[in-house]
Amino acid sequence: MTARIGTELDEAVRRLRAGELVAIPTETVYGLAANALDERACLRIFEAKRRPAFDPLIVHVRSAEHAREFVRELPADAERLMRAFWPGPLTLVLPKRELVPDIVTSGLDTVAVRAPAHPLTAQLLARLEFPLAAPSANLFGRMSPTRAEDVVEQLGDELEYVLDGGPCEVGVESTILGWEEGRCVLYRPGGTPLELLEPLIGPVRVASQHSEHAPRVAAAAPGMLAAHYAPRTPLVIEANAAHPLAAGEALLAFRHARPAHACEVLSATGDLREAASRLFAALRRLDRAGATRIVAELAPERGLGRAINDRLRRAAAAST
Ligand code: AMP
Ligand code: MG
Repeated sequence: MTARIGTELDEAVRRLRAGELVAIPTETVYGLAANALDERACLRIFEAKRRPAFDPLIVHVRSAEHAREFVRELPADAERLMRAFWPGPLTLVLPKRELVPDIVTSGLDTVAVRAPAHPLTAQLLARLEFPLAAPSANLFGRMSPTRAEDVVEQLGDELEYVLDGGPCEVGVESTILGWEEGRCVLYRPGGTPLELLEPLIGPVRVASQHSEHAPRVAAAAPGMLAAHYAPRTPLVIEANAAHPLAAGEALLAFRHARPAHACEVLSATGDLREAASRLFAALRRLDRAGATRIVAELAPERGLGRAINDRLRRAAAAST
């Protein structure tokens, strides 16, 4: 089986209704989708990705109204955020209703919901009678796909159809927020910057792997596992930009190219949105360059730079 890439909604609808997997474009990264209310279909997602059962899936819905069918409680802040940022790269973790299968939430009593902004996937959701469970369409722990071809490269033998919506505009995964004891917590920095969220709902606590919540968070949000998003070539964060690169080392530069075995610049103008949209494709090209290792410069720690740096740090942690 080698997945076919196409743009036919009819085919995607037919396969999803039959309980099959279909890769779908979103504005963040490509997702590996199945009927979120069909336990067996969702099980296939875990098998295809070799994803451990303790890593819950995000449920993609059409709208805030649609989300209400699957969540029991909606804090006022959550409603406000949905109104402001949906459809868009923001995932909310909320108490789940019974009809959401345990496999989707890894047995947690919360479910992660998001309304994606990609027009093709919005049309797909409008035609389906069910929401779509869809984690990123990559093998567990590897880099997320931002083009249809990236999905085929990693998962081509695991599914039949990739719905092609072109390259992903945002390029990093969604921001994930939840509520603990009534307070908003950031589980994963992503496509919706913290700077846009806080004016609406006040200060957001950033969950850290070393916080008192660590055991619960580690079980609930393995997107938070230290090692993730990894290329095959070892990756290190550049500690000292004044040092020249060693022979064979590739450079992931933020703004300025330098002599290296291979070099990718994320944004020559320092535009964080451009940098985020190019991140995974640039890492893929460097991964193919036959370098001894990839040295990565961090982006400024603001806006989408937080999401970029989060992915780079996890990729580096996976290399050690
Ligand atoms: P992916 O779509 O591959 O980026 O993975 C989805 C991520 O969403 C998981 O790795 C978790 O970090 C997060 N997630 C999904 N459901 C929950 C939940 N109920 N509680 C906390 N985090 C969740
Ligand atoms: Mg993922």
